[in-house]
Amino acid sequence: MTSFVLLLDPIPADSPATAYEIAATLRFVPATEPILTAFDAGAGRGDGIFETLGAHDGRVRGVDAHLHRLAASAEKLDLPAPHPEQWRAAIAQVMDALPIQGQASIRLTITRGTEAHGPTCWITGTAIASEFPERTTGVRVVTLSRGYTNDVGESSPWLLVGAKTLSYAINMAALREAKRRGADDVIFTSTDGFALEGPTSSLLIRRGTTIVTPAIQFGILAGTTQADLFSHLQADGFTCEYRTIGVEELREADAVWLVSSVRLAVPVTEVDGHTIPTDLALTARMNAALLS
Ligand code: PLP
Repeated sequence: MTSFVLLLDPIPADSPATAYEIAATLRFVPATEPILTAFDAGAGRGDGIFETLGAHDGRVRGVDAHLHRLAASAEKLDLPAPHPEQWRAAIAQVMDALPIQGQASIRLTITRGTEAHGPTCWITGTAIASEFPERTTGVRVVTLSRGYTNDVGESSPWLLVGAKTLSYAINMAALREAKRRGADDVIFTSTDGFALEGPTSSLLIRRGTTIVTPAIQFGILAGTTQADLFSHLQADGFTCEYRTIGVEELREADAVWLVSSVRLAVPVTEVDGHTIPTDLALTARMNAALLS
């Protein structure tokens, strides 16, 4: 597997650093070299944030949208704002190091680091061999409660549900629970009966010519792939809506997808053991648009 690690020596977001000065803050390290101390808050407490970007044939998708969300997550966690040009230059360096052909994932990470040295920042770039068969075969999902009401993002912002934090142990545990139940993936639900998002993906449903995704003020992550798809789908004649989605709507939908930056749009074939219709033609158009 081809993978790279690029360390960033973080600079203040408003620093007027030149491209030359920024380049001096970036350093490739061997993928096997340790880059954290045992006291780093990212390792000890999952205290930090990340972004995962998808790349295809040398083109990385949604850099602006991901940097925007990285900055929003930093603000929610009271971490120093990232310097956009520094991260942009770092992404470009990692892209240059990856093979020109095929798919890759680029992961940006900022931990709270240590008191003495402040945040630890790095990017990894990994070439992906998989062709993601689930883009056509789909995934079976189970609904699992997140244990919160739908308005938790507004009522309890310290739960950080709309930030992309490093604390993904719960999301990974939910995926293992799905496997135990004979499914492939999860749609999280709120305790008051709404469908929210997947552990690593946003939820879209189709009802006729309308595509719906849960509104982000209800404590889910603002998906960059979903936003990108909404522009394509609107241009394709669909009406796109942000609103609450009742859990029962999943079974009534004409199609359901989980969408994310690397796996892209994946059709859902089953919800809690009930077969639901898939729209393979539209899925193929959506993925072609994302990869174009
Ligand atoms: N929701 C959660 C919880 C996620 O972890 C992710 C991506 O990892 C998404 C939604 C989809 O976001 P994006 O489309 O920006 O990859």
